Amino acid sequence: RMTTDIPAASNVDYIVTHEKIANPINTQNFIDNEFVESKSTQWIDLHDPATNNLVTRVPQSTAEELKAAVDSAAKAFPGWKKTSLLTRQQIMFKFVSLIRENWDKLAASITLEQGKTFADAKGDVLRGLQVAETACGITTQMTGEVLEVAKDMETRSYREPLGVVAAICPFNFPAMIPLWCLPVAAITGNTVVMKPSERDPGAAMILADLARQAGFPPGVFNIIHGAHDAVNFIIDEPRIKAISFVGSDKAGNYIYARGAANGKRVQANLGAKNHAAVLPDANKNATINAIVGAAFGAAGQRCMALSTLVLVGESKSWLPEIVEAAKQLKVNAGFESGADLGPVISQHSKDRILSIIKQSVEQEGAKMELDGTGFKHPDPKYADGYFVGPTILSGVTTEMECYKKEIFGPVLVTMEVETLDEAIELINRNMYGNGVAVFTNSGATATKFQREIEAGQVGINTPIPVPLPMFSFTGNKASIAGGGGQYFYGKAGLNFYTQLKTVTALWRSEDAIAQKASTAMPT
Ligand code: NAD
Repeated sequence: RMTTDIPAASNVDYIVTHEKIANPINTQNFIDNEFVESKSTQWIDLHDPATNNLVTRVPQSTAEELKAAVDSAAKAFPGWKKTSLLTRQQIMFKFVSLIRENWDKLAASITLEQGKTFADAKGDVLRGLQVAETACGITTQMTGEVLEVAKDMETRSYREPLGVVAAICPFNFPAMIPLWCLPVAAITGNTVVMKPSERDPGAAMILADLARQAGFPPGVFNIIHGAHDAVNFIIDEPRIKAISFVGSDKAGNYIYARGAANGKRVQANLGAKNHAAVLPDANKNATINAIVGAAFGAAGQRCMALSTLVLVGESKSWLPEIVEAAKQLKVNAGFESGADLGPVISQHSKDRILSIIKQSVEQEGAKMELDGTGFKHPDPKYADGYFVGPTILSGVTTEMECYKKEIFGPVLVTMEVETLDEAIELINRNMYGNGVAVFTNSGATATKFQREIEAGQVGINTPIPVPLPMFSFTGNKASIAGGGGQYFYGKAGLNFYTQLKTVTALWRSEDAIAQKASTAMPT
């Protein structure tokens, strides 16, 4: 059971308020198990999205620092690969228990840098922690196969790590996504160079401290910072064998193409536009609450946010109640108690969201059902925060900007169709295939939907169907680069971070007394 109460500032030695920080501390690199101040001359200011106050400065790590991180990871790899799986597992056990002990600290860092509410930030940590916990049990899945393939001959397969692997992370889940990568990569024997989002690297830095305390040897986990230059370095560095990327289409497709051209294994999860089809036979109250929570939670900045509602037949009459439910949500800074959604990540993001809404309403004919665009926080402390209130548009068509773009803000677009077939056809026409949901009380309807829908993660009366870590994150179509298949975590994650080696051995006692070599193909 999770406590989501925000700790009192007097009880902890980390920040749990949005007060201005007197002397913001620079974010450091983490190389060879040491936190090291960057020598960079280029820094990125990181602001608290609720106040616009400076929180930290993030370096664009220098070329020497980027190289030092890979040097460290490459040096650590042979020893880490040789370390027994059970020893690696013991370190992982310690790591997960430290994450659990530091759950609030991680969540507080997320609220401060990313803006999501403290309760939601705790969920961000938990989803990553569950991947780490499940990775501890990977020992049985690491076993290979063996078969006597001929007389005195057997073939054995082994699962081996790749070497140095890199993770490039997005801003929206500062703990969960690093934890989709590090635990699975490290327990399988790889060493890791991570580049967290330059917009909120704090949680990854805390994870580095916990990894060191847990006993990961120097070099197994390194963190460097920056944006394009750091990413280009990762893509082109020959000692990095694989890249895990989560983020936008533009960056991900570029990293996938250039990484693959450089001979690397790349997994790249991209953008989304997740639809929910609502049938009139659904449980109305539960459905409305599920939709409103999934559309506006995290201010819509989830790749599995439910951003597009397809009201089928009579369920269109539910719209006023959906609007009413959305009006009840409290927009507030993430550390304020009772906040349902916080600000978006940046002023730039806010401006982009407002301009998409404006274009669709003023030029394309969408109807404003709930207008959160003018939201002003009543407390002057938060006057410069990047807040957008829940916004609902109706009468949306597939040609409108608000439908064509992933808005990544607290905006729900609603569309109407007459039949289930029309809903399925409409949703399948969308290029993305991350997540989808259907709300109905009919098993037949749900089964038809599940079979005919193309998106890779389907919720039935479940608004955000993110698979738990015994499965994998299986978005498809344009939501994953390269035609999919290289999924995060679960069995697919294990496959991503390992390669197979097969050994064929012949041990024949007659060889000792054989007189003459045979030159014919063995038959
Ligand atoms: P982003 O692409 O802007 O940033 C992700 C990472 O790529 C960052 O580390 C950033 O430094 C780097 N980067 C950004 N632009 C780059 C470029 N042009 N060249 C090289 N590197 C670049 O993404 P974001 O805004 O941080 O995250 C939001 C996006 O991530 C949304 O589109 C969301 O749907 C997606 N996302 C997808 C999933 C999924 O599993 N499908 C999960 C979470 C987020």
